[in-house]
Amino acid sequence: MSNIHFSFELFPPRTPEGSAKLPATVARLAALQPAFFSVTYGAGGSDQDGTYGTVCQVVAQTGIETAPHLTCVGSTRDKIAALLDRYQAAGVRRIVALRGDLPATATSASAPGEFHYANELVAFIRETHGDAFQLEVAAYPEMHPQARDPVQDFESFRRKVEAGAHGAVTQYFYNADAYFDFVARCERANLRVPVVAGVMPITNYAQLMRFSAACGAEIPRWIRLRLEALQDDKPALLDFGLDVVTRLCETLLKNGAPGIHFYTLNQAEPTLRLWKNLGLPAS
Ligand code: FAD
Repeated sequence: MSNIHFSFELFPPRTPEGSAKLPATVARLAALQPAFFSVTYGAGGSDQDGTYGTVCQVVAQTGIETAPHLTCVGSTRDKIAALLDRYQAAGVRRIVALRGDLPATATSASAPGEFHYANELVAFIRETHGDAFQLEVAAYPEMHPQARDPVQDFESFRRKVEAGAHGAVTQYFYNADAYFDFVARCERANLRVPVVAGVMPITNYAQLMRFSAACGAEIPRWIRLRLEALQDDKPALLDFGLDVVTRLCETLLKNGAPGIHFYTLNQAEPTLRLWKNLGLPAS
């Protein structure tokens, strides 16, 4: 397992209680010695300072590399360049480069700002900051929800790699075949970047349905029906979710996924339970 990379995604806390809880969560996750943490960025850059502050806080607390997510939609070259300089000065060496979600009424073409798609952000970062950052981009094994079709969506992914991305992290999924099909398409297209599998622990039925409707991740019918039936029995739902996601991770690791990126939602326990179930080393 030593050549497999594990990473943990956090979000900037939005409440005083969330801020107070974060260091304990980070300490428990840091004990697993991830390759890196990442910190999300609010739509339209709404919590730019929150992302920056959380990145600095996690690095100061753990000494572990921490990558900010950076979205470009609605922003300008000047603003993005200034933020990149700020990150570079703070010692950041890895960035998750994204378009970001559009305002409800906008299309990529009509959205305000100087960037329309993530490949433009990747190209801009490489143009202005060379190799200063390891660039990760998003990948969608089940297709991005706004894409016209899978072929066009894969071409969008190809453009991000050709613009200079070093690696990719996928949207979460519960069907490993979709992931391996995506990896096979990358191989056929000669896109030689590691595609790390994004994994979302299952802990809450309503929340999972809401997220999945927004991001286009499919919840297989049998999983949805079991979760629906268990939604009022939290311990049983957690056990079922743990079993499903453990088996998913086992399949991914057994069949060559280069890494797993856990969407922790600032909770240590679900990821720790998965880690233990997978028999991964606790340091
Ligand atoms: P793109 O790669 O630009 O793709 C967006 C859509 O446009 C796709 O449908 C694509 O097929 C299409 N497209 C791309 N290029 C073209 C083109 N030239 N012509 C026509 N169509 C094109 N969101 C946040 O707000 N903050 C976060 O921190 C965040 N973190 C994320 C982390 C991961 C690992 C993932 C998978 C997603 C994350 N998101 C985040 C969500 C992401 O911002 C949305 O999914 C967003 O809608 C698309 O971003 P992207 O970088 O994939 O965009």
